[in-house]
Amino acid sequence: MSEYSGILIYAQVTREDYIHTVFFELVDKAKELSKKLNGAEVNAVIFCRPGLTRTFTEAFQNKGVNKVYCFEDEKLANYSTDYYSKLLVDLVGVIKPEILLIGATNQGRDLAPRVSGALGTGLTADCIELDINEKGQLAATRPTFGGQLMATILCKTYPQMATVRPNVFKVNQQDCFVQTEIVSCPVNISYLKNNVEIVDFKKTIDTVINDLDSAEIIVAGGKGMKNEKGFELLKKFAGSIGATVAATRTAVEMGLAPQSIQVGQTGKTVKPRVYIACGISGAIQHTVGMSGSEHIIAINNDENAPIFDIADTGIVGDVFEILPAYLNYHG
Ligand SMILES: Cc1cc2nc3c(=O)[nH]c(=O)nc-3n(C[C@H](O)[C@H](O)[C@H](O)COP(=O)(O)OP(=O)(O)OC[C@H]3O[C@@H](n4cnc5c(N)ncnc54)[C@H](O)[C@@H]3O)c2cc1C
Repeated sequence: MSEYSGILIYAQVTREDYIHTVFFELVDKAKELSKKLNGAEVNAVIFCRPGLTRTFTEAFQNKGVNKVYCFEDEKLANYSTDYYSKLLVDLVGVIKPEILLIGATNQGRDLAPRVSGALGTGLTADCIELDINEKGQLAATRPTFGGQLMATILCKTYPQMATVRPNVFKVNQQDCFVQTEIVSCPVNISYLKNNVEIVDFKKTIDTVINDLDSAEIIVAGGKGMKNEKGFELLKKFAGSIGATVAATRTAVEMGLAPQSIQVGQTGKTVKPRVYIACGISGAIQHTVGMSGSEHIIAINNDENAPIFDIADTGIVGDVFEILPAYLNYHG
């Protein structure tokens, strides 16, 4: 019997002092995995400024998190690769989880390889599915060979580590209350050198292009938006309905949008309430990243475009007539 047990999940605290939604998605998935691991504990680890953890207690309890290992210190108020990875490695050495899950956010993508490297364990990055196989091992699935194949990867060492993209798993709306135990952990970092000093935070993206992960409405543009002027029109339309802008890979390759807002197999997975696809054909590599949207509206001048196969509402027409008409009508 392995000395490793339980599932540990990294609870990322955002700069606005809330817990990133990918954590809750991972907890629900971990609860499912736990059933195949004889009810293994689902625990969390959090790094934050003093006093913040208790503000999340209810959320942890409602999600059924058994224990929360909290590291609180002013020095942990902002993400630090050096501090966070050191403390997480030390914690794993003590509590020995059999699985360690981290959201594949920018922060998670920085933290996870540091931790796996220091622990000398395997890490399957950017997963889109997790399961437990018949031998009780974590079976982590991720796209490979530029997204042409899906590979299910097993880790030979412990803890078995994986990062998972936000929005891949659904958040279960039902609460599964448990009395969460908050374990306050000592923060021994005074001897550590923090190699990065944060001087300031600056927004590098405009207000329309903001966080796709939590967007309720997304307006996505494809090659059919044609050029920069077309994308300006798209942004204006998005701004008028309070939507976030996304793009296809082709639009990104045409230089019309940054890669950070690409949706699809090699981009982000999104699940907004409404996804409006403008001038997008509906290639599988794109739809795999947005087909979980609640309501899909497609505007395309080709009535045979595959996007209409998954659209709830289809508008056959020219985006350069339809979007301006909407903007004119709504002033
Ligand atoms: C390994 C791999 C990974 C990939 N990963 C991704 C990914 O992550 N995300 C992604 O998006 N793609 C990805 N792709 C590319 C994908 O296969 C498609 O090529 C891409 O999604 C097509 O983008 P598009 O719909 O913008 O362009 P097109 O397929 O060229 O479609 C443009 C559409 O615009 C319509 N149109 C043109 N003019 C107008 C107009 N005036 N009004 C209305 N409609 C108009 C056309 O009818 C057409 O349907 C990947 C491909 C590979 C091989």
